[in-house]
This record gives sequence, C-alpha cells and structure tokens, in this order.
Amino acid sequence: MPQPSAAAFFMQKNKRFVNNSPLFMYNCLMTSPDYMNNKFDIIVVGAGHAGCEAALSAARLGCNVLLCTLNVDNIALQPCNPAIGGPAKSTLVREIDALGGVMGEVADATYIQMKTLNSSKGPAVRALRAQSDKKEYTQYMRNLLENTDNIWIKQACITEIKVKDGQITGAVDEYGIEYSCRAIILTTGTSLEGKMYIGLQAYSGGRLGERAAIGLSESLRKHGIITKKLKTGTPARVDKRTVDYSKMEIQPGDDKLSFYSFKPNRPIRPQFPCYLTRTNEETHSIIRANLDKSPMYQGLIQGVGPRYCPSIEDKIVRFASNPSHHIFIEPEGLNTYEVYIQGFSTSLPAYVQVEMLRSLPGLEKAHIIKPAYAVEYDYVPAVQTKHSLMSKDIEGLFFAGQINGTSGYEEAAAQGLIAGINSVKYLNNSEPLELSRASSYIGTLIDDLVTKDIQEPYRMLTSRSEYRLLLRQDNADARLTKIGHELGLIDDAQYKRFLNKQDNIKKEIERLRETKISASEEVNAALAETGEHIDRGIRLAELLKRPNINYEIFKKLDEKTRNLNLSDDITEEVEVLIKYDGYIKRQEQQVETSEKLEKYRIPSNIDYSKIKHISTETREKLEKIRPSNLAQASRIGGVKPADISVLMVMLGK
Ligand SMILES: Cc1cc2nc3c(=O)[nH]c(=O)nc-3n(C[C@H](O)[C@H](O)[C@H](O)COP(=O)(O)OP(=O)(O)OC[C@H]3O[C@@H](n4cnc5c(N)ncnc54)[C@H](O)[C@@H]3O)c2cc1C
Repeated sequence: MPQPSAAAFFMQKNKRFVNNSPLFMYNCLMTSPDYMNNKFDIIVVGAGHAGCEAALSAARLGCNVLLCTLNVDNIALQPCNPAIGGPAKSTLVREIDALGGVMGEVADATYIQMKTLNSSKGPAVRALRAQSDKKEYTQYMRNLLENTDNIWIKQACITEIKVKDGQITGAVDEYGIEYSCRAIILTTGTSLEGKMYIGLQAYSGGRLGERAAIGLSESLRKHGIITKKLKTGTPARVDKRTVDYSKMEIQPGDDKLSFYSFKPNRPIRPQFPCYLTRTNEETHSIIRANLDKSPMYQGLIQGVGPRYCPSIEDKIVRFASNPSHHIFIEPEGLNTYEVYIQGFSTSLPAYVQVEMLRSLPGLEKAHIIKPAYAVEYDYVPAVQTKHSLMSKDIEGLFFAGQINGTSGYEEAAAQGLIAGINSVKYLNNSEPLELSRASSYIGTLIDDLVTKDIQEPYRMLTSRSEYRLLLRQDNADARLTKIGHELGLIDDAQYKRFLNKQDNIKKEIERLRETKISASEEVNAALAETGEHIDRGIRLAELLKRPNINYEIFKKLDEKTRNLNLSDDITEEVEVLIKYDGYIKRQEQQVETSEKLEKYRIPSNIDYSKIKHISTETREKLEKIRPSNLAQASRIGGVKPADISVLMVMLGK
C-alpha cells in the first residue's frame, strides 16, 4: 500500500487552506494591509503547542493574528518526549479535535507508531499514544500556520506588554518595534527567564539550543501580575547506531490502527518499534555517588518539578527499595539517528550521564548526541485568570500552556485553543466559552488551574476527573462537536458526518436491545471461545453486559450484525454505552447535583469581609480565587461544606 508522506497528506487534507499561486498571495496582502502598520487584532506570544492552537483558532474565526516566537524553526517543537497522548492526554487531544483544533490531525499525519494503552482495562482509562516524527510534526504545523489566512509569523522576542486603563493596547519586541492589538495570548512555555542546568553549571535558555525570553516577566510584574518558578527536565538523546537493541525488549505498535482525529482519511504510515531496558544496581550506585553534583540536591534549583515525571535521581532517592526502573528507547523520527531515553531525565553533569547510560543493558557503548538537562522558568499562577483564561486584572490579556503552571503538549494545546476562541469572543463582546468539568477534561483542567492554587507542574490524569467514565477518548466528539460547529471551527461536512455517526450508534443500541438470540447449539459453540454459555434466549444487549463478551463476537452469532458491518469507532461506542450503562447513569446524576450548585452565581464585586460565620481561611481563599459560582467555591482546597451552606443561604437571599 502506498504510504503518504506527511507533506502529501497535508496537501490532501488542507486543500482549502493551501493556495500558493502568486495571485492568491497578492490578494491576501491587499486584504490585510494592517500588518504594514504593525496593527493586529491579537498577538500570540510563542509558537509552541498552545500558541499554534491559539493562533489557528483565532485566525480561522476571522481575526488578524501576529504570532511571535523565539525561533520559527522550532514551531510546535516537542522538547521532551517525541509522543502525543497517553492516559487522559489522549482524551484531551480528541477533545481538541472535536472542538476544531489541530493537534489530532498533526499527530495522525506524522506518527511513526500508534499504540492503545490499557486496552484490556475499562474505557475510562484506555488511551491512544502516537510516537511522532518530531521534524515532520513541526513542519506540518508550520505548513498549517503559513497556509491559514490572517496569521503573520515573526521571529522576535516580545519583551513588554502595553496596558492602558486596565486594557491591553499592544506589545513591544526586543528590537523596540511596537505593535498595537486589543488582545495578547501569552504561551511562553519554559522560556520566561529560563535557566538550564547540566550538573552545577547553569546556562540562560528555555530549552537546549534556544535562548531564554528576558524582559517579559519583568513587564508582567510591573503590571501587578505575580510570577513564580517551576522546574522540569528531559533525558539525553543518543545515537541509535550505538544502541544494542538485541539486549532489549521490543515494544511494537498496534496492528489495528486507531487515530486521534474524528475527521476522515487518516494516513496509513510505516510503524517503528520502541525498546525497553531497565536500570540496575550499578546505575543506582553511580547516581547515589554523584548526588552532590545535582543542582536539585544542592539547592540551586528552587522551582518545584513535575511529580509525575520525576528525574531518575529523584526515583532512586524516593523509591530506594525499588531494584530497577523501566527505561524506554524511543525513535525521534524516520530520518534521524537520534533516540530518546524515556524515564532517564536528569540534571547530573554530562560526564556522569555517560557513565549512567552505559550501565544500562544495550547502552554500554552509547554515544550521547544531546545531554539531559533541567530547566527552571517563570510561570504565572493561574488563580490570577478567569475560566476564559483571561487575566482577572488586565482585560485582553490571556495565558495558555506551560505559563499557567501545566506540563505537557496536550495540556498546552487544549488551553491554547480555548484562549484563541475566547480572545475572539472578547473582541466581539460575546460570552466566553467556559467548558464545565462534566463536559470535558479541558473543562476540568482549566477549572483546576484557576480554582486550585497549583504549586507544582500540573499534568492531566484520569484521577483528576470525578466524571471520568463520562469523559472518555471515544466519546469526545459526542460531547464537543456541536460546540465546535456552533463556534465555526467544525465545518458542515464534518458536522454532518458526526450526526450520522451518532444516529448509527443510537440505532444500533436500540437494535441490540430488541434482538434476541436463542440458546441453540450453534450459538453456544460460537460463545465457547469466550467461556460464556446461555441456557435460554437472551437479548444481545443483555449478553453484551457480560464481562467476557464483546461486540466482535456478535458477528459470529448474528447475521444482521455481520451484514451491518459498522465501523470500529461506532461499535466501540455501542459496547461502552451498553456495558457501563449503570455506572454512566450514576455519574450523570452526580453531574445534575453539581449543576445545581453552579446555578448559584457569585457576583464579582462580592465583599467577603462582610460575610459572617465563615472561617478566616475560607475568606482568604475566596478573596484570592474569587470563584464565579458556588460549585467552583466548593472545589477550593480548605473551603468547608459549612461555609458553602452559609454562602448558599446568602446568595439565595
Ligand atoms: C526540558 C523540558 C522538559 C520537559 N519535560 C516534560 C515532561 O516531562 N512531561 C511533559 O509532559 N512535558 C514536558 N515538557 C514540557 C512540554 O514541552 C511543554 O509542556 C509544552 O511544550 C508546553 O507547551 P507551550 O505551548 O506552553 O510552550 P512551548 O511548547 O515551550 O512553546 C513556547 C514558545 O514560546 C516562545 N516564546 C517564549 N517566550 C517568548 C517571548 N517573550 N517572545 C516570543 N516568543 C516566546 C518559545 O520560542 C516557544 O516557541 C518539557 C519541556 C522542556 C523544555
């Protein structure tokens, strides 16, 4: 089968955006003269995962966007592992796709391995993971940006924001050029005042090979925005010619491919395996013997690191009784020898890294192309922003991605999309898009960020959602496509396909509820492979609720199922909705209860000091976070149910 390159796939998928004829270019310039006066509707600072989604959504919704970034060759770079998705994150990617964002399309177009994780577990934790060709990923995203009307890309460091009467009026770059705009979206990642550490040596920079963004943090602080420090780290990259894969376990991709995007025409590409090796006592002793050379352990880094992606030295110290840790060797792309050493993030000196790596089976002769390092950077605690991701204090100033204290490409892209949409809504004076916790992981993520005073890098986990059986990767389209279509980011053809799919799901569930099969010998013979048996006639929906039965077996039991030949995404959804019907209904009831609290809106000018009978701690928290409704107030850490009752009575009055 011919395997399309990512570039060919781009042309096929984005016909409506691609027009390189000189006539088109001229028309485009003629209709957008404002760029000549440095006048834009929106400035997006940073072309990482958040910035790209923000710029694309705002431009597709009709705004003139300046996209400034430190290095245009690093657009949508994956500075850590070359992979999109994994538990909870895959649901974010599908939600982005359903709303009209692009991360799913780019990951689908540039994968070198697709794998569904937790496939034998329940649907709430099943997760797709795409190993990406890193170079193709950035190129594909750049093509999307360059071929979207209204986006002007510029390599420049924004050093200052301009504010007048509490509203954004523009920005200034490092060359002193001033731009006017009505909204700014800051998506600066790990760059703000970034300092990288390799051993006890520190370098100014946001990520290896890219300078730090100096000036902007100071400008934010001058305007009253509080910044704090966080830290993250990444492992070394090694030359694959120096890896002995025969000493490792192969980790292949799936035979049956799944994709992120709900849109049709997904590309079939060659898949490449990852490999698994393990740390051993020798590795651990090298690390223990060199802890005095770690910037973390010597107190040079103050910022808190990601709890769920600890460095290898952290793992050895915190889980001292663990004799071994998994290390995955992941290719960075088709046309490079660089491989990523997953699970081996460290900030120890480069010469120690060589020793540590060479203690791993299969890496005895490893040659390091890029060393591991840690980076400390400024972020803006998101309790200073509203659910729309706009600052509570400066109108028109939006924040998205790592600058809000998150970690991860998917978390960043999700926020970028929402900030892009809401910046346009702000300019149009319309109500912002605020997704509820019950609607999506995106809603949960943003609610957690703005409600809880996050003190460490925030990563999306399934356990962060109280409704995780409702928020699955398989039904992201059912939850959000209608919103994407109403916004104008999902076109009519895609919306029609979506409605058709939902109709087919509904009809199939009804059919399975009505269709009865008899307890014949043939039926029980077909059921034998599942270990199930029926003594009397049973409806297919009832049979599907048994743990060992899946939809696939119906193709052997029932001719109609065979002839219908429904697509996998439809049958997967049908199976989940029938099997977990009881649990799903219970979570829907929880949503109803929470929605009652959401109806109690809290006025933004409320004076908490005048409310008696609430504790001082609660009063301080409410004053700091200023929740917009009672449900949000109830989720603030330290706010007690008794305080919520007092507020409820007061708001009721
Ligand atoms: C060393 C390292 C380790 C990481 N480890 C992990 C991990 O373990 N797990 C995980 O999930 N994620 C990790 N990440 C984080 C992941 O890369 C980010 O979460 C994700 O890329 C954030 O996306 P973003 O869009 O917010 O920012 P980024 O993708 O970082 O993009 C920021 C963009 O802003 C630009 N920029 C910044 N300031 C300015 C300015 N003033 N003017 C113009 N442009 C500017 C930069 O050039 C860059 O293009 C790591 C990142 C790094 C660098």
